[in-house]
Amino acid sequence: MSEKSFTLETDADGIAILTWDMPGRSMNLITEAAMEELSEAVERVASDPAIAGAIITTAKKDFSGGADITMLAGLFGEYEKKLAENEMAAIAELLERSSRLSRIFRRLETCGKPFVAAVKGISMGGGTELMLACHGRVVAEGAKIGLPEVKIGIFPGAGGTQRVMRMTDAVAGLQFLLKGSTLSPEKAKTMGLVEEVVSEAELMEAAKAMLREGLSAVKPWDHEGFRLKGAAAIWTPGGFQVWPAANGLYRKETFDNYPGARAIMQAVFDGLQLSMDQALNVESRYFAKVLRTKEAQAMIRSLFVSMQELGKGARRPKDVPASEIKTLGVIGAGFMGAGIAYVSARAGMEVVLIDQDQESAEKGKAHCASLAAKQVERGRMRQDEAEALLARIRPTTQYAELGPAELVIEAVFENRKVKADVTKGAGEWLGGGAVFASNTSTLPITSLAKEYRDESAFIGIHFFSPVEKMHLVEVICGEKTGKKALAVALDYVHAIKKTPIVVNDSRGFYANRCVTAYLLEGHLMLTEGVPPAMIENAGRMAGMPVGPLSLNDEVGLDLGWKIVQATEADLGPEAVSPEQKALLQELVEKRGRFGRKNGKGFYDYEGREKRLWPGLAEIAPPKDADKFDIAELKQRLLVTQALEAARTVGEGVVTDPREADVGSILGFGFAPFTGGTLSYIDFMGTKEFVALAKRLAKKHGPRFKPNRLLLEMAENGETFYGRFGTSAETGKAA
Ligand code: NAD
Repeated sequence: MSEKSFTLETDADGIAILTWDMPGRSMNLITEAAMEELSEAVERVASDPAIAGAIITTAKKDFSGGADITMLAGLFGEYEKKLAENEMAAIAELLERSSRLSRIFRRLETCGKPFVAAVKGISMGGGTELMLACHGRVVAEGAKIGLPEVKIGIFPGAGGTQRVMRMTDAVAGLQFLLKGSTLSPEKAKTMGLVEEVVSEAELMEAAKAMLREGLSAVKPWDHEGFRLKGAAAIWTPGGFQVWPAANGLYRKETFDNYPGARAIMQAVFDGLQLSMDQALNVESRYFAKVLRTKEAQAMIRSLFVSMQELGKGARRPKDVPASEIKTLGVIGAGFMGAGIAYVSARAGMEVVLIDQDQESAEKGKAHCASLAAKQVERGRMRQDEAEALLARIRPTTQYAELGPAELVIEAVFENRKVKADVTKGAGEWLGGGAVFASNTSTLPITSLAKEYRDESAFIGIHFFSPVEKMHLVEVICGEKTGKKALAVALDYVHAIKKTPIVVNDSRGFYANRCVTAYLLEGHLMLTEGVPPAMIENAGRMAGMPVGPLSLNDEVGLDLGWKIVQATEADLGPEAVSPEQKALLQELVEKRGRFGRKNGKGFYDYEGREKRLWPGLAEIAPPKDADKFDIAELKQRLLVTQALEAARTVGEGVVTDPREADVGSILGFGFAPFTGGTLSYIDFMGTKEFVALAKRLAKKHGPRFKPNRLLLEMAENGETFYGRFGTSAETGKAA
């Protein structure tokens, strides 16, 4: 095996083939070493008179996954170390190192010899930027082309923003950069980002033909007199129409919370008014600036590093051999059960889907069929794949069919007696080593486990709705849950390509506790007289995907009302808020408003349209919006969730900060730019956070009181990542 990432071979026609094949990795990544090699290869192509032009391609299934993000995180680490000694020198070095890739790509673009990118499979981030720096692009059918950097808080800083905007329509280019979306080769071609789309077998021949036909080694923008077209030419009538609107849209989508997205707007706007060399310089400066923001660090840590680690089984007990679920049992073919059956069959498992009568079981399978049909319609699944998926789901009423199942997940009604019956019933038919899981949202796992023949083989596997869309799965260890059950649950979550967090048993586990706090805060604001539209806007401005009232309508006001009643019955009247109780009782019991499900909640629904219900003014008369400080409303909505997350850590429910953070973003969309509930506290500083919580507690009540853990951490100047590290392995599982 070659220790090099790139090999260069020249054929008789003077075409150099530069093949990317990173040793020891399944995906080509841009590392410091790869940059060095690429730079050397470009110089060889430039200086060797025997080479007329070059093709950059891959020996792997995919072209490239882009820059090695851990390298970027490392760059920042070194910057921080040097910062204390000499701030200016530290910034200058960060700029120098973070702009290196951009300089190599520019050298490739201007070295005098034409380069063609021959791309197949995945091309992301720096890989796509390399492709754009080349003089021609041939892409194999089925490839996936993206610049997803904005999703982890940064942006394409190696020429991506400048080249995209000079190659495609301004609106399409901005959307592509700001959304971080993935393009099909055909779409990329329509946009002008790719010249040719061919079959994989024809890829190299087509790339060679492009060179033989005399591909120019000078980019359009490096010709004298180059003029931007359409709205990309900012100071033109077309530009006047697009740029103010683009700014408005940017604000509407991001509320200016994301420095990475803001830098895209700035780099593009500034860069389009400059020559390419100057524009790249400007882009590099924005890039180094964004790397230094806490948002970029928080997002890289949670949404890239931690998510990968958790996905790879960071919390899996290492000494349990890997398990493979060939047959999965699902009991309860309702909304959740059908979703679980679908994602499991999609991952290749045989699924026995049980309900109380055959008709209900068939209905669950029909739901899977409609999900698969939608995928086929959108071109994301072939018809034969959909048929094979459905053939793997067996609807039945017979527990006997569960015999071969290695894992069973129950998703029957949220009723202790019903759950006890199916757990006992299924246990009689299952093989010796089978693990039994509950998808309960509220019932403690430890108590449900008592109904299974082996409590150590019982675990919680809590999905989020809708199952086929939500990436998070909360795995819950009861007091007696054993390592094997945990390992099997995590192997299963890995197989269905979702991200797990492992938490210990508690009322509401982790995610629902934080969400409940968010909903409560929205309810209390309403009863205080905050105008409902202001509450909703405060939620979105704080970075949440939807306001608390909208979210409650989606979940169901009746469910909220049920939970308040159950909490009061179990824990006493002090455990519930009297204002919230009165509000939900009025809405659900007196006004019959259950949420989106019956078209009446905090909003009125008509088809896809919704409007805040005017009747809310009778129940909670609104005060003048000027009486409320929007900054404080935003803080309340995030702080209440972060406090609840800190309580789960204090109680030992969550043991690893990565899980609180990743779980909060994937599970309930906690403001992603913060890096998650605990990163929100860490990046604010525990001391500052505690002071803020105390101020809010004084003004709004004891729900904002920081717990003992937070007080202690503030006192000692600790952070969650500093105190709890990231090495916890198995929670309480014995
Ligand atoms: P649902 O009412 O849509 O489905 C429940 C299904 O269980 C029904 O098809 C019912 O016929 C079946 N069932 C009832 N008794 C049965 C029995 N004895 N044997 C076999 N099947 C039986 O409910 P759902 O929304 O899918 O919720 C199911 C579980 O998932 C609950 O525990 C719930 O708390 C949990 N959960 C729900 C959500 C959500 O958003 N809906 C999210 C996470 C977890």
